Amino acid sequence: MRRICYVNFNRFFASLYSGSMKSNTYAPFAKPMYIMTKPAGSLCNLACNYCYYTEKSKLYKQNPKHIMSDELLEKFIKEYIECQTTPQIMFTWHGGETLMRPLDFYKKVVKLQQQYGRGRQIENSIQTNGTLLTDEWCRFFHDQNWLVGLSIDGPQEFHDEYRRSRSGKPSFKQVMKGIQLLNKHQVEWNAMAVVNDFNGDYPLDFYHFFKEINCHYIQFTPIVERIYKHPDGRILASPSEGTKAELADFSVTPEQWGNFLCTIFDEWVRQDVGEYFIQIFDATLANWMGVMSSLCSMSETCGHAGVMEFNGDVYSCDHFVFPEYKLGNIYEKTLLEMMYSERQLKFGEAKKSTLPTQCRECEFNFACHGECPKNRFCKTSSGESGLNYLCKGYYQFYKHVAPYMDFMKEELKNERPPANVMEWIRQGGADLEL
Ligand code: SF4
Ligand code: SF4
Repeated sequence: MRRICYVNFNRFFASLYSGSMKSNTYAPFAKPMYIMTKPAGSLCNLACNYCYYTEKSKLYKQNPKHIMSDELLEKFIKEYIECQTTPQIMFTWHGGETLMRPLDFYKKVVKLQQQYGRGRQIENSIQTNGTLLTDEWCRFFHDQNWLVGLSIDGPQEFHDEYRRSRSGKPSFKQVMKGIQLLNKHQVEWNAMAVVNDFNGDYPLDFYHFFKEINCHYIQFTPIVERIYKHPDGRILASPSEGTKAELADFSVTPEQWGNFLCTIFDEWVRQDVGEYFIQIFDATLANWMGVMSSLCSMSETCGHAGVMEFNGDVYSCDHFVFPEYKLGNIYEKTLLEMMYSERQLKFGEAKKSTLPTQCRECEFNFACHGECPKNRFCKTSSGESGLNYLCKGYYQFYKHVAPYMDFMKEELKNERPPANVMEWIRQGGADLEL
């Protein structure tokens, strides 16, 4: 869901809000099979406290290098291209820290994509913590038109609280240097910001920081993790561990999350529609329109986005890299066999079929869909399992944005730009409705 770049979504909404694209053009919402790739496994030069991926190295103790071989890279690119049914093919390079691989690795990626793509439209996005960016990297991303998703948690005091090196050194200054380089080389990038217990109470400081650094595409991700000690040393709970696990203290609370979203939305909807693109607001509008959201957590079902580790192991989802969710290995089964297996289809369908009654009867289920199954470890007021931990926050958010979403939906239906919502509010429209 959450830590992938949303390149098509960005470009789509930029034209949609301003009215230069008609509302019946919904191609970017199509759902191709999609595999996020980990060329350096969980290797990273930082050790952020809340990272859900660093400890995955413990699953691969027998394989100390944790880097993808050239042979596997070629096999993956060939097979991935061959099994796509859409003209556009999206590759996402994800970590750990992707820039732990040399630039030559990604040059090879481009060469292989050209070789096997035979003229098909190929897009690449890469996720990075930004600390290893250089002129050379940025020149490459610019020249190859790669979209960069950069992890940054707002202003320095928020960012440096959790995003530090193994020896405890803060990373904010290095990340800002990386951003300068991206801008200098005119690389298209978006910010991926984590909302946690520490920064969750400061939504406007957070939002204003991104506006000050002129970042127009922002993804906010709520951090929710549970602690459960495994014999191999991993400490983060798998969703299958049920109620045995305890909430990690860096997790954002449902109240913080709801308040965070509502506060930023209030400023955005009055001043920034069509200027700043906040993924969860865009995805909410898509759901209000009844079109498929590009955000898996807000879709009715999921399971179309797997993840492939450095050794070819494929898992159901980036947030389900646990032994019990391994679908197989690319040397033993094809990507299609794994991604369209009964098991994976069931995984995706379970997002809908396991919703508790409270969600099924909720007036905002059409927008929320119970969010990610990973976070559904609470009980409803009637004692039913499977309620999302963040439910209270989401409900507050959907209730709060409903009149504005209704208005923007009407504008879109009538082929007018939803950015008209700002003028409507100035004229007192929202107050009248509320
Ligand atoms: S389980 Fe589904 S909703 Fe959650 S992150 Fe994975 S694909 Fe997205
Ligand atoms: S707001 Fe709460 S009850 Fe409603 S669909 Fe979302 S998680 Fe379920």
